[in-house]
Amino acid sequence: MDIKTICVVGAGNMGHQIALQAAISGFTVYCTDINEEALKKAEDFAAKWLGGRLEKGKISAVEVDEIKNRLNFTESLETAAKNADFVIEAAVEILSIKRMLFAALDKICPPHAILTTNSSYIVSSRIADATNRSDKVLNMHFFNPALMMKLVEVVQGPHVSEETVQKVLEVSRALDKVPTRVNKEIYGFVCNRIFSAITKEGCYLLDQGIASIEDIDNAVRNGLGHPMGPLQLLDLTGIDLEYNVLMERFKDTGDAKDKPSPAIVERYAVGNFGRKTGKGFYDYRSK
Ligand code: NAD
Repeated sequence: MDIKTICVVGAGNMGHQIALQAAISGFTVYCTDINEEALKKAEDFAAKWLGGRLEKGKISAVEVDEIKNRLNFTESLETAAKNADFVIEAAVEILSIKRMLFAALDKICPPHAILTTNSSYIVSSRIADATNRSDKVLNMHFFNPALMMKLVEVVQGPHVSEETVQKVLEVSRALDKVPTRVNKEIYGFVCNRIFSAITKEGCYLLDQGIASIEDIDNAVRNGLGHPMGPLQLLDLTGIDLEYNVLMERFKDTGDAKDKPSPAIVERYAVGNFGRKTGKGFYDYRSK
């Protein structure tokens, strides 16, 4: 494979695990974030996670050292991207920030570099024209937690070359993922369209007082066989992310049905974003 160096932009919920997965898979990785604390947390997480694998005998001490040596953290986008063959952008779900980042990445990265976005809902055709390499800009959508979840959706916008799609499918497999090719851009791709329908209904039932948080999740786990209920899953993926996603959608459609529900707004307003803040639909602070 001619792709050796991967730059991961954003060391949050998704980026820190995508970066670690890429280093485990043998790539040289530069993970960057504007937030120093997020980078520190990502580095600490990698050390702890690898330490756990070592303790369980799943990995050798030599391998741990090799992976750590391949995994670099920096606040400088320039340092992270200048030698990248491949970029995975996992910064906040705000279109203007993604466009600004892609314009910068286009200037910094070598001409052959493929620029992907991990965005859950923003299609790459809304970002690609911020660069001069639209044929190499596309959605590569990982799932949370990125170290564990096997699916990656690779979405071909009308501007994307077949060669780029093939390379992204190849990188996905090299990252030990199972890619699903999505032939046309559509809001939410495949998996999140189905996920949104379920979480929207979960929030509606809660807002209407039809059932409690626990009972809604219990129904979905035990009636539909899902490993997690929709409200549990929102706590994992982030209530702030859900809020931003729905607000962006509402801005586009102007349809009140796309606005975040009271269950989301109430929690977002007081900073209860889910597991990452210790409280969301559930309280994790005592655990
Ligand atoms: P997050 O808020 O946990 O992390 C985002 C990180 O981006 C933060 O650490 C922030 O400091 C950083 N950031 C913001 N602006 C930046 C900039 N200009 N340069 C570099 N870093 C910057 O968000 P997340 O949940 O990791 O989501 C990231 C992306 O992944 C979003 O596009 C989201 O749609 C997508 N995604 C999220 C999930 C999920 O379950 N959370 C799943 C799949 C895809």
